[in-house]
Amino acid sequence: MKKITIAIDGFSSTGKSTLAKSLAKSLSYVYIDTGAMYRAVTLSAMRKGLIKENYFNREGLIESLPSVELHFEYNPEKGFAEVFLNQENVEGVIRSLEVSQFVSQIAEVPEVRRKLVEQQQNLGKSKGVVMDGRDIGTVVFPDAELKIFMTASPEIRAQRRFDELKEKDPNVSYDAVFHNVVERDKIDTSRADSPLVKADDAIEVDNSNLTIEEQFNLILELAQKRIK
Ligand code: C5P
Repeated sequence: MKKITIAIDGFSSTGKSTLAKSLAKSLSYVYIDTGAMYRAVTLSAMRKGLIKENYFNREGLIESLPSVELHFEYNPEKGFAEVFLNQENVEGVIRSLEVSQFVSQIAEVPEVRRKLVEQQQNLGKSKGVVMDGRDIGTVVFPDAELKIFMTASPEIRAQRRFDELKEKDPNVSYDAVFHNVVERDKIDTSRADSPLVKADDAIEVDNSNLTIEEQFNLILELAQKRIK
């Protein structure tokens, strides 16, 4: 059967990864979470003291990049591939609010993007891949057969992220999460290199009022049409 590339882009916490994971599962495709890669580079920079509150050693980060090795390993229990930073599984630590607070600054750096985009293109070169991020349909795979651009209101997105985070950290506040969602949207859409924009041929899906199942069925049908 013909294999296609599915690019899912959109704002933070629009449920891109939930959708991408279930699509990949039902099509037996590989799922790649590119946000996890930017988050892992951010974690590496934080651990090296290269980024803190009101401090960012951009040159130091660029110099450190050759020693930042990332790869994915499929976890059969979870049903998706987890990200590894220099052989350490960092899946459990990269979703914290702290990493979220710095990640958009790291993702603005062209040298970081160049490194990660090249790796993403390699990972998807045989097709049969569902990749989610901010620039997949515009930069990583501009020829993807199916491009989805996901949106939802900032309030709904912050609530979804808050519900997720508070399970791990009862001290997290809705206001802090809302502020982070809005701030990341602002940086992601206004950066000079590969800003978050809808590709001309992407299908926009506002899921503010769609259930996960409704959205999945809608997009699976679009994918099946492209595969035929
Ligand atoms: O998707 P997620 O929210 O985990 O992504 C974290 C951050 O990584 C985004 O806010 C954005 O700054 C950056 N990112 C990016 N390009 C991608 C994926 C993520 O700039 N393809």
